[in-house]
Amino acid sequence: MALPVKSTPTRMSSSDHAKSPLASTSWASNKAMLYCCCSRTRRSLCFAFLGASYIGAVSTTANPFYTPAEVAKQATASKAKLIITQAVYAEKVEQFAKENVHVRIVTIDSPPENYLHFSELTNSDENDIPAVKINPDDVVALPYSSGTTGLPKGVMLTHKGLVTSVAQQVDGENPNLYFHEKDVILCMLPLFHIYSLNSVLLCGLRVGSAILLMQKFEIVTLMELVQKYKVTIAPFVPPVVLAVAKCSVVDKYDLSSIRTVMSGAAPMGKELEDAVRAKLPHAKLGQGYGMTEAGPVLSMCLAFAKQPFEIKSGACGTVVRNAEMKIVDPDTGKSLPRNQAGEICIRGSQIMKGYLNDPEATERTIDKYGWLHTGDIGYIDEDDELFIVDRLKELIKYKGFQVAPAELEAMLIAHPDISDAAVVPMKDEAAGEVPVAFVVRSNGSKITEDEIKQYISKQVVFYKRISRVFFTEEIPKAPSGKILRKDLRSRLVTGNLPY
Ligand code: AMP
Repeated sequence: MALPVKSTPTRMSSSDHAKSPLASTSWASNKAMLYCCCSRTRRSLCFAFLGASYIGAVSTTANPFYTPAEVAKQATASKAKLIITQAVYAEKVEQFAKENVHVRIVTIDSPPENYLHFSELTNSDENDIPAVKINPDDVVALPYSSGTTGLPKGVMLTHKGLVTSVAQQVDGENPNLYFHEKDVILCMLPLFHIYSLNSVLLCGLRVGSAILLMQKFEIVTLMELVQKYKVTIAPFVPPVVLAVAKCSVVDKYDLSSIRTVMSGAAPMGKELEDAVRAKLPHAKLGQGYGMTEAGPVLSMCLAFAKQPFEIKSGACGTVVRNAEMKIVDPDTGKSLPRNQAGEICIRGSQIMKGYLNDPEATERTIDKYGWLHTGDIGYIDEDDELFIVDRLKELIKYKGFQVAPAELEAMLIAHPDISDAAVVPMKDEAAGEVPVAFVVRSNGSKITEDEIKQYISKQVVFYKRISRVFFTEEIPKAPSGKILRKDLRSRLVTGNLPY
């Protein structure tokens, strides 16, 4: 698959445009934002993304479990014109569409009254599809990510960036190559996350392999699908690897077709690696390291370069080709030698163009020499293998999903009974990390942990819910006012907690 980058503009008459249902929804204009709010891995979502890319529209994807407020926030920020969703989620976007008359709602299944049906977009005659000139630097995807700090921001990924990233993973004589055309790839990770959209869907299409879409993660269904369709490649995240490693039901199925298990989006500990290797001794297990802003893949295991394939425990593979990686001292910015841990930086055509309407955040993330600073701490060893050892940035990862502390802190501080708050990650066996809050009560307030948890739960998707609340006298801060998150994180480790 190559995202089409047309070299010459194609003209269309205005009467052509009038015929097209795409044109009638304003979907066709070059810079239109298309907002997809779909179930995890629907086929229609693939078509929507590919079709939108083809006509030069921009897709921003969102978790279908978002609350209406979360959806509205992203749709407003991205200036969405068309919302593609399922009838069951339509009520989440109804209010937003009412308040924004230019927005159209499209459902991929039976449409409630007043909405367009997806077939009205896809049934156009080829000649009806408005053709636009697409430049390689045009934005094609706009996933949201909080990056190293602050609130979630629109990450502008370009046609050139995605094409480069796909090529880095699966094209040509590539030591990182992990798919080939005979593969059956299991797509069980949600397509609204760039890991699945890029490294599973686009890479699978590019190579010409079969992609098996699984709509909802459930371990027995997963095993049945692997056995029935002889899945060869299993792109997972650590909690799914954990389920495969620990569930006894797995032993009832023939999983011998799996040749590669790829894990990414969050750290995978050595014990887990060992457990899944024991369960699937015939398969190669490798980690990939991604970050939405990096396009997303920075490094991946050498799937075919060395035979037999040896993976060092904890390694996230080597940097993708045609990209540069360096490790810098976070304080001085100076490059560090091998085996010394520092901030991981990457440079190449695959990284984001910047954050939508946020030049300051862009400047903080991509320096003037074009290096993207990841906020992850790691080192590169003598075999060029990358190891991630810590995270400098605020980000919390719940089963690979992003939780931005700034978003939860803003909600907490907005409560009249709370005078200050900070949210940090706490380790959790099932989720990897969960958000916990340190809270300073307002004078005289007796607000309880449960009340705070409920107050947040009403406003956010399930994985952003606060797992614990620790009341404290004050939030430690630097003279600049920056929360000293490291202090709070170490309190969680040492057990030096307010109660
Ligand atoms: P996202 O933008 O949602 O893909 O999140 C990116 C972040 O997830 C990275 O900056 C890392 O902190 C973390 N991450 C992704 N892959 C890995 C991995 N293999 N090991 C450790 N952390 C990872």
